[in-house]
Amino acid sequence: MTNFVDLADVPVVDNHAHAIEARQPTGLASWRALFTESPDPGMRAHEVADTAFYRRLIRSLEAFYGVSGEDGVLRARESRSAAELVSELFRDASILGVVIDTGYPAPENAMEVADFMAASGAEYVGLLRLEVEFQRLLVEYGSYDDFIASVREFVSDVRGGGFAGFKSIAAYRTGLAIERWSDDAARDAYAQARVEVELTGSVRLGYKPLLDTLLHLAFEAAAVQELPVQFHVGYGDPDVDLRRASPLELRNILEDSAYRSMPVVLLHGCWPYFREGAYLASVYGNAYLDLSYAVPFISIGEMTSMTRAALAVAPFSKLMYSSDGSRIPELSWIAAKDGRQVIGSVLGELIADGDLDIDQARDAGERILRDNALRLYGFRSQVTR
Ligand SMILES: [Zn+2]
Repeated sequence: MTNFVDLADVPVVDNHAHAIEARQPTGLASWRALFTESPDPGMRAHEVADTAFYRRLIRSLEAFYGVSGEDGVLRARESRSAAELVSELFRDASILGVVIDTGYPAPENAMEVADFMAASGAEYVGLLRLEVEFQRLLVEYGSYDDFIASVREFVSDVRGGGFAGFKSIAAYRTGLAIERWSDDAARDAYAQARVEVELTGSVRLGYKPLLDTLLHLAFEAAAVQELPVQFHVGYGDPDVDLRRASPLELRNILEDSAYRSMPVVLLHGCWPYFREGAYLASVYGNAYLDLSYAVPFISIGEMTSMTRAALAVAPFSKLMYSSDGSRIPELSWIAAKDGRQVIGSVLGELIADGDLDIDQARDAGERILRDNALRLYGFRSQVTR
């Protein structure tokens, strides 16, 4: 028996996404490469087209643009400006708000926020990507004490600076097992990082004692300001060592009583560690699980497994919808469409099994798609219930 819960009328708040590029990618090769995390040229050009995700995306866009084939989709989108694409796709997907990680793509390639908001009709809040800001300050400050003072200053009044929280990509640098280090160890790591700055003019923060120390400074400030901190968890390009990117590695942070007032948002459903992520959201009061429906690039069936695991154990107040879309608006669009469908079908299962009644299921769907993120990130729109 099917008890699908129709959530088509619920506007979504996309709790994790990235900016849309002002100059959209053109040509088949750069288009296909948007839908894989593989750096392998053959995978980016060819095998990516043989995935369940890509086939579904093209089929959905053929219907949306009223065209046929991959070529038809490319011609349709390339005849439109970035603003036209955003306007058509965001409005069709009924996207009420977005939470944007401003660290990628580079701000100089992104649509202006005002242009994006006008085109999409969506409310916007921005997050600061910690590692990018630390790297910028590290290049600027040649003494450890001055550098640390600049980091403290930078994390001290985040909302005053116009941002709604932090994003960390520690998983892409030194892993999620963030430790406490001696002052000497942090200073030694800073000296090594400065050697890289002297040699290359920039730095990649792969110095664990230093990065961990800076993250603790940011978390202390986030706890005081009750600021959400998003963590990249699990799935990503091979720059992530997936062995170090399980959400269970965050135990030190989740167990630290000093950080109880810092909401921790575990991104991408933690896929493939989605059961672990769902568990953490069910036991730690400040842990939230992001359910992401465009990235990872997976089938409807696997998104259903992820959603089923999350709804099986975590409170509905701890789950939030996202796309993890970046650069092109099609990802935000297909995530909203597929996310509503997948969440609606999993809620239908819960009704069929006698876990929830129809009203409770509808309420859970609205919270996951919209209300939890409105509240957590402090959007202007009020929670409607
Ligand atoms: Zn992301």
